[in-house]
Amino acid sequence: MGHFDHIDVLDKGFVELIGDNIADGDNMISMIARAARVSTGKDGEQRPFEDDVRLVTFLAEHRHHSPFEHVILTFRIKAPLSVNIHFLRHRTAKVNAESARYRKVRTEFYEPVIFRRQSKVNKQASEIDVIDDNQRAIEIFKNAIDVAAQAYEELINLGVAREQARGVLPEFRYTTWIWTIDLRNLMHFLLLRSASDAQLETRSYAYAIDELLFRRDRDSWFELKGLVKHFC
Ligand SMILES: Cc1cc2nc3c(=O)[nH]c(=O)nc-3n(C[C@H](O)[C@H](O)[C@H](O)COP(=O)(O)OP(=O)(O)OC[C@H]3O[C@@H](n4cnc5c(N)ncnc54)[C@H](O)[C@@H]3O)c2cc1C
Repeated sequence: MGHFDHIDVLDKGFVELIGDNIADGDNMISMIARAARVSTGKDGEQRPFEDDVRLVTFLAEHRHHSPFEHVILTFRIKAPLSVNIHFLRHRTAKVNAESARYRKVRTEFYEPVIFRRQSKVNKQASEIDVIDDNQRAIEIFKNAIDVAAQAYEELINLGVAREQARGVLPEFRYTTWIWTIDLRNLMHFLLLRSASDAQLETRSYAYAIDELLFRRDRDSWFELKGLVKHFC
């Protein structure tokens, strides 16, 4: 795995771009433009990149979003279960995930070093500022995950089935999954999950995906990123 297709996220997570259907010498913008031009029988024509950008911008602005579905991307993601749950809500993606029934799971947790204050204006959200006694919160959190990890090991050692023993593990346990999604639905995902009302931890994964797309196809992503706002 190269340096360019892997980004560390949070304390122990990552996002990797492990596959796509962009052929050598091709790019995301051309793929979208080609799919759109088939409607006038002109999909065989090679056009300058700028022409493709103009067409793709028009498509996005006028909600002709289906040509974007021809770009397919596959990611490997390691994140807390709470982030995984947010990803799973995006139903058009294909998912295969680590099992906590087939084998014992790693008792590895996301351990925040900054504990944000509960938002007063948005019941779902946090403030950007840290609580007064951050150190105490770190201690309470660490103690709780240690107790949970120990309880899991003890239950396994007692012979309890893995599918039941996992019940004591908290939402910040890391898990890994493979996530395949087309660009139309990824644009929608990025719009929702990069927004300021998305949970910061999940937003961090959206930012990493954004950066990986930029690294994969710099010129196309420079143009496409500005069009995400049309995928609401
Ligand atoms: C900030 C934030 C807070 C949230 N809070 C909550 C919460 O408290 N509780 C909760 O349950 N969820 C919550 N969600 C999840 C949210 O309700 C959506 O499930 C999630 O964002 C996925 O969006 P989606 O359905 O548009 O995407 P996808 O599932 O990827 O679907 C993409 C698009 O396909 C179409 N589509 C997919 N399935 C159907 C269908 N069955 N029928 C018709 N069209 C379909 C729609 O156009 C949809 O926009 C939250 C999301 C965000 C971003």
